[in-house]
Amino acid sequence: MSSYLQTSIEYLKGVGPARAELLKKELQIFTFNDLLFHLPYRHVDRSKIYKVNELRAEMPYVQVKGIVSNLRLIGKNRAQRLVADLRDETGVMELVWFQGIKWVRESVLPGKIYLAFGKPAAFSGTINIAHPTLDDADEAAVKKYLHIMPMYNVTEKMKARGLDSRAIMKMMNLLLADPKLEIPENLPEPILVQNKLVQRHWALLQIHFPKDDKSLAAATFRLKFEEFFFIQLKLLRFKVRREQLHNGIELKTIGEYFNTFFKYNLPFELTNAQKRVLKEIRHDVKTGIQMNRLVQGDVGSGKTVVALMTMLMAIDNGYQSCMMAPTEILAGQHYETIVGMLRDMPVKVRLLRGSTLTKERKVILKELLEGEIHILIGTHALIEEVVQFKNLGLAIIDEQHRFGVEQRARLWKKNVKPPHVLVMTATPIPRTLAMTLYGDLDTSLIDELPAGRKPIQTILRYDTHRLSVNGLMKQEIKKGRQIYIVYPLIAESEKLDYKNLVDGYEQMCRDFPEPEYQVCILHGKMKADEKTREMTRFMKGQAQIMVATTVIEVGVNVPNATVMIIESAQKFGLSQLHQLRGRVGRGGDQSFCVLMADVKLSNDAKQRLNTMVETNDGFKIAEADLKLRGPGDLEGTVQSGILDLRIGDLSKDAPIVALARLNAQDILRQDPNLQHPNHLALSQYFEAYQRTAKWGRIS
Ligand code: ADP
Ligand code: MG
Repeated sequence: MSSYLQTSIEYLKGVGPARAELLKKELQIFTFNDLLFHLPYRHVDRSKIYKVNELRAEMPYVQVKGIVSNLRLIGKNRAQRLVADLRDETGVMELVWFQGIKWVRESVLPGKIYLAFGKPAAFSGTINIAHPTLDDADEAAVKKYLHIMPMYNVTEKMKARGLDSRAIMKMMNLLLADPKLEIPENLPEPILVQNKLVQRHWALLQIHFPKDDKSLAAATFRLKFEEFFFIQLKLLRFKVRREQLHNGIELKTIGEYFNTFFKYNLPFELTNAQKRVLKEIRHDVKTGIQMNRLVQGDVGSGKTVVALMTMLMAIDNGYQSCMMAPTEILAGQHYETIVGMLRDMPVKVRLLRGSTLTKERKVILKELLEGEIHILIGTHALIEEVVQFKNLGLAIIDEQHRFGVEQRARLWKKNVKPPHVLVMTATPIPRTLAMTLYGDLDTSLIDELPAGRKPIQTILRYDTHRLSVNGLMKQEIKKGRQIYIVYPLIAESEKLDYKNLVDGYEQMCRDFPEPEYQVCILHGKMKADEKTREMTRFMKGQAQIMVATTVIEVGVNVPNATVMIIESAQKFGLSQLHQLRGRVGRGGDQSFCVLMADVKLSNDAKQRLNTMVETNDGFKIAEADLKLRGPGDLEGTVQSGILDLRIGDLSKDAPIVALARLNAQDILRQDPNLQHPNHLALSQYFEAYQRTAKWGRIS
């Protein structure tokens, strides 16, 4: 930690209290170090001077040199603008200002040679640059600006007070030229050598003011590596600690409960993937080390039964289990499924959720503490302080992406010895993202669907095809099948979305009239008991059509449903569409997913919908999603601060993530507690890193 880097930003030359205030408020730049890590979002090449006749409107930022003359005001009132000619030996172009006209008129000298820099555009056949940056074109000045120039993000407020990208660049220049500035290396020498990484100080110099493209690439690689390396070190260190503690619960035996279930109750043959994952879990829970395992399996791959059988292992060894689901409906459904599967086995299962009545809740809490209840199923309600177990041995979290890491940790505290934790996610996440989000967990993969499933047929239909879609619906209902119709619900247009949903419901009631047809409806604004009633109607087959919002997205299991119609499908993200589609195709019958879309689709939406039509493979879809949307938008990742990356990009940097992880693993293998003298700088940096939320806040 270098104290000079921690110097408050107002002590930088040219900053002062007012600008410092702005930097703190707008960009959270408090210290020299923070400024250093305000990295350019891109660079523009100012090493080249273009000729006027070379300019094209499609070009990015360019620089031209010529005589500026003929300043004139054009237009009236709000349309008023200042225009000037710029002439070189090849032709004439225009410079245009819409704002700050007075200032430009006062400071620009007609007849003088300037360097103009900006984005070219074409207006009625003439090339122009709006709001160019103008510099004196005398020899010395030209030299100063001939390099690859950094561009920095600034806010509108900052711009309004003259603190623009260029001003930041000047500050950065001053700071980096400061002889007192010293940026210590935080990676051990062998890592630098093996991975051909440049020194940290040099990397920071070059990321702002690169000599050339090669230096910029080297600096970028180094800083990305560093960012991913410390994330991985943190996750893996966490894992090492856990393994060192060796204070997990030992589930030694497979006993009565597990065996009885396996012999008499299991309604189907397990898939090989399910068997393998159960073995992996079994291997973990008997070691005495706390298990932290992620089970990934596409929708419909049969995670619930794996969860149940793991819970039976806990019961066999005298421990309680709990299973947490993200919604009331899903928790209720898990409860039904599990009670159903256990049939007449003497296992006491209870359901606890927000809507559980106080009286019942009291009984549950008491029986939980006394150890009478074997399995508790519920929602977030499970992690509340008041929920105390006698001896919790296993906690299962279904659809983890809806829960924060924080909540996961709270479950550990439900027993003196931390319970084993099994996280199950149905949203396949790309490997890079999995490594970053769940890098501290061991992973298991259920990469096989139960036999006899027919792949779901996905079709794209435009609103004009509604009649033929109704035809498909009638045909399926005739066969005794059921249908979901899902409407989007987007916060910004909630009112309109609800209207669409209700209109759609009414239309369905008209097109599919009682008593032949029964239509039910489900959305987030309904009361819990109404929701349960409607859901039950559908689950019992009393209604053939369910009109709903995405409340049904996660985990709902009605094997008799064979058609999923998604309205305004273009408004959904890929992984959400895949989740929704996973609600059908759960029985032996051919199922269909109909994507209803507007005729006018953006390219992006077209790509998404076509991906859905082309593949049923959740992992391919997840990769496509990451490419199309970037990780920031992936569901459930937003709240996880870990994805707050400064320079790394999970959709592009998979190889660097893997490399960083390997290196972090190596270091911890040699030196699990980071105590080796060669790792002093590393461990000091790492300690500070762990204390702060953001990389770069430390030095
Ligand atoms: P998910 O992985 O999406 O949570 P579920 O656990 O809900 O999937 O299982 C989907 C359906 O497949 C359920 O109806 C379940 O009973 C059934 N199922 C699970 N495993 C098998 C299997 N090995 N063979 C046949 N059906 C299975
Ligand atoms: Mg499930």
